[in-house]
Amino acid sequence: ESEKNIMRGVLSLKMKKVRDIMTNLIDVFMLETDRVVDDELVLTVHGYGYSRIPVYENQRDNIIGLVNIRDFALLDTESGKFTVRSLMNFYNHRYGKVIMSDDSCYDVFNKLKKEQYHMGVVVEHDNSSEKDPKVKAVGIVTLEDIIEEMIQEEIIDE
Ligand code: ADP
Repeated sequence: ESEKNIMRGVLSLKMKKVRDIMTNLIDVFMLETDRVVDDELVLTVHGYGYSRIPVYENQRDNIIGLVNIRDFALLDTESGKFTVRSLMNFYNHRYGKVIMSDDSCYDVFNKLKKEQYHMGVVVEHDNSSEKDPKVKAVGIVTLEDIIEEMIQEEIIDE
């Protein structure tokens, strides 16, 4: 019976697209690159409590990296010298840069696992700039989101 449930979980991951389970960009707590790291920012970061925080430049759909909540520990916030960009560049955490929103959850799960990324940035083609084909972020997905999806499927089946 548990084998059946695992099979169902896998099947549902193959059928579902990552856009159906991602955290939408509008709900993502993220930081602007040029933001100076001061005490207020550190408090905000801890208030949200997320381990990983995407970093964007100019617009929110232009995610260029991420910082970890731990990066803010032991940082001299008085000097006003440190920006989100300097933290991002210093630690240079790995993440999945281009997860297409219509990829299946199954493929994304394998990709994240294989590359050992915990978080991926979900993107779509940006049709507004025709001569310069680009992608824009539409959300984020973590291993947690996919595992949750798999487990939920099992619980519904009970
Ligand atoms: P954490 O380790 O920070 O608790 P998880 O990877 O366990 O994060 O993910 C838990 C949920 O929080 C997932 O739904 C994920 O998409 C979401 N999430 C992770 N980071 C952020 C963030 N910076 N802003 C908004 N949601 C996030």
